[in-house]
Amino acid sequence: MVVRAVRGMKDILPDEAARWQRLEHTFRSIVERAGYGEVRTPHLESTELFVREIGADTDVVAKEMYSFSRHDDELTVRPEGTAGAARAYVQNNLAQLEPVTRWYYLGPMFRAERPAKGRFRQFHQAGCEIYGDAGPACDAELIAMCTELVMALGVRDFVVHVNSIGSAGTRARYRDALRDYFSPLAGSLSDDSQRRLVTNPLRILDSKDPRDQEASRGAPSVSALLDEDDAAHLAKLRGYLEDLGVPYVFDPRLVRGLDYYTRTLFELKITSGELGAQDALLGGGRYDEMIQHLGNKKPVPAIGFAMGLERILAVTPLGAPRAGPDCFFAPLVESAVGRSLVLAKSLREHGVSCELDGRGQSVKAMLRRANAMKARLVAIVGQEELERGEVTVKDLDRHEQVRVPFADLFDAVRARLAVPRSSSELSRDELRVPASVP
Ligand code: AMP
Repeated sequence: MVVRAVRGMKDILPDEAARWQRLEHTFRSIVERAGYGEVRTPHLESTELFVREIGADTDVVAKEMYSFSRHDDELTVRPEGTAGAARAYVQNNLAQLEPVTRWYYLGPMFRAERPAKGRFRQFHQAGCEIYGDAGPACDAELIAMCTELVMALGVRDFVVHVNSIGSAGTRARYRDALRDYFSPLAGSLSDDSQRRLVTNPLRILDSKDPRDQEASRGAPSVSALLDEDDAAHLAKLRGYLEDLGVPYVFDPRLVRGLDYYTRTLFELKITSGELGAQDALLGGGRYDEMIQHLGNKKPVPAIGFAMGLERILAVTPLGAPRAGPDCFFAPLVESAVGRSLVLAKSLREHGVSCELDGRGQSVKAMLRRANAMKARLVAIVGQEELERGEVTVKDLDRHEQVRVPFADLFDAVRARLAVPRSSSELSRDELRVPASVP
């Protein structure tokens, strides 16, 4: 029986990987311009990190983590990037080294969710974190950067949702208000939410169970419970977003699936319907309590977001697949293979991408392959060329060819590559064996 990839996990083959690389490149250049440096943390962390920081009652921790014991360690393959980055921030004493730290990360995350359109068990996130700045200006800057990012990636139909969940006191009052609201409805809630009613009623609001969603319809919103400082933070954030011209909707029902958030929460949702129920492209918020909770001596405010790369790729234009090689080497006789290998190696050393087909195919088959892989040039070495110390260089784009001595190959190739590619497709005639090739 054929061994297949694990359910919910995908291979990314080279043509598709080219799109990933473009996405990653755009992400890196936008966030690096805004002062973020890349952090790479281990994909495995202590299970305790996620249980403590994400919250034992969240779906991620209660149902979706890939956790296992090895020797005496309880380990989990990371389901998200914020907790690991925060651990690294504390462990490496960053708060002592600099007042404000801006980090970004990019990589796979793992959640044992039920696979669906836009929902995988291994998926990829690119995210940013700011540590050390409590002010609403960095919330606004971060949200504005998220919109710049998705627009640069070609996403058009989206809405930014913003809310404030308040700080610890507000959340405690909100929990009480939700308990009062949901208690008379307890019988109509899912089993999970009946338990959440006792442990953490906020989680009922982001339950995916239709019974819980129905019961949540009339639930109080957190806005009325915000204290003066929370409300002032939110008002300033909204003012800055208006200054920046970032369109958004204030969504007092927005709660996010992880427990660590304080004050600002935001989510960017696609509105075209292409992703069905999985319409969140990215989400984030403030988590001012986590750094001290992780053992840092002083509290350090923090905010961040994570963007799902599979979802971005599902809604952005395809983009060109992988580019073909600059030069395809076609040795026509076995005795020409060694010389072709040497010439290709030397061109590569000069920065020209080359591929060589040493399988002993006919020239027609090799030209067809060079054309299919969208090579720009073909370097043909047949018996006659070999005897004369020459190569036939065929320009598939401009439909012309020349013969040059081995020593002049690089110059001939460079001159042709300097001319931009035309978009014209190779004509059928080009697939015929040229008269000058033996
Ligand atoms: P979260 O870490 O849950 O706040 O998710 C942040 C973003 O990651 C979401 O907006 C999605 O774009 C993406 N994401 C989360 N879970 C998955 C998943 N199972 N499959 C694909 N993308 C996901």
